[in-house]
Amino acid sequence: MILGKCPYCKDGTIEARDKEVNGKKVKLYVCTNASWKTEDGEMFELTQDSSCSFKIWQNSLSRYGKWLSYQDIRELLKEKSLEVELLSKKYGKKLYYNKHITLNLEYGVSVLWD
Ligand SMILES: [Zn+2]
Repeated sequence: MILGKCPYCKDGTIEARDKEVNGKKVKLYVCTNASWKTEDGEMFELTQDSSCSFKIWQNSLSRYGKWLSYQDIRELLKEKSLEVELLSKKYGKKLYYNKHITLNLEYGVSVLWD
């Protein structure tokens, strides 16, 4: 399934691939120009003919209670930023707050804290 154009290369598109990390099924949203020789958990080694390395883990914001859906990725690729609801556990209380996230070549997505 194609979710949008890759923001970091000319002709790549972002597709969803099924992965398993530590026994858990996780989607990896990844550029079609990226492929890996070895996969060991979240460690990857790119093949020589990969011209792009962009990827977003579905669970990259899971510590904030947020899993990135297909719809989130579509919006994010189109608009370059997306408002999401993140969870913070402070003093034993659950607090939700809205933050914008943007694309990040190294980490997939990053949260704009201010
Ligand atoms: Zn790409």
